[in-house]
Amino acid sequence: MPVLFIGHGSPMNIVADNDFTRSLSTLAAELPAPEAIMVISAHWLTNGTLVGCMSEPRTIHDFYGFPRELYEMSYPCPGAPEHARLAREYLGLEAGTCDEEWGLDHASWSVFHHMYPDADVPVFELSLDYSFNDWHPKPLEYHYELAKRLAPLRSEGVLILGSGNLVHNLGLIDFSTDAPVYGWAREADETIRSCLVERKHEPLLEIETFGRALELAVPTLDHYLPMIYSIALQEDDEPLSFTFEGFQNGSISMRCFRIG
Ligand code: ZN
Repeated sequence: MPVLFIGHGSPMNIVADNDFTRSLSTLAAELPAPEAIMVISAHWLTNGTLVGCMSEPRTIHDFYGFPRELYEMSYPCPGAPEHARLAREYLGLEAGTCDEEWGLDHASWSVFHHMYPDADVPVFELSLDYSFNDWHPKPLEYHYELAKRLAPLRSEGVLILGSGNLVHNLGLIDFSTDAPVYGWAREADETIRSCLVERKHEPLLEIETFGRALELAVPTLDHYLPMIYSIALQEDDEPLSFTFEGFQNGSISMRCFRIG
């Protein structure tokens, strides 16, 4: 199975019909049919790495102050307990605790609402270990190495999908639909894009060396980390192609890509 990274952006995309949402439908139509989908979610931050094991994941409305219709929607797809069990096995003993509580946050269902509107593909989530040690988060390299263990899932028919945003600064967001894009946002997106095109993963694991534009683009790691999981699964000779490029709300890159 291919591996994806999707920039999910604002929850308003759930009810939008725009270039981005249409790119999701097109992408789904081009992919082989997955047995199950594993989402690495920017919105599930935990102490240790958890795997969603439930057979009926609930729809989580993890956003505030949006129109009522968003809260009335649900995405009743099945879970994938057997594939989740495999994921835990591959992750090994120190990571991959079974979770029966969480479900699907909007990093998953805002995307699948457009990709698989019939909600007939089983989905489970993997959390991001956001634990701190002496005030330091786990290094990006740790996540990159952990993600590599998930590679065998691809031959089990599991579509692995990182859901975040490469450039994501909520403090500087502009909710108007025609918001001008910040110069630093374009610069950071371009820096990341060229690393991806040249398959240079190492600089992407040392973003602090890139300077001011990246500092503003990645003020916290939550939306950047899912991309690290996606690129970790890229084989040496595997192509990467962009399935969407663009910005929303001035400070969010909606860039999406497909590996394989
Ligand atoms: Zn988000």
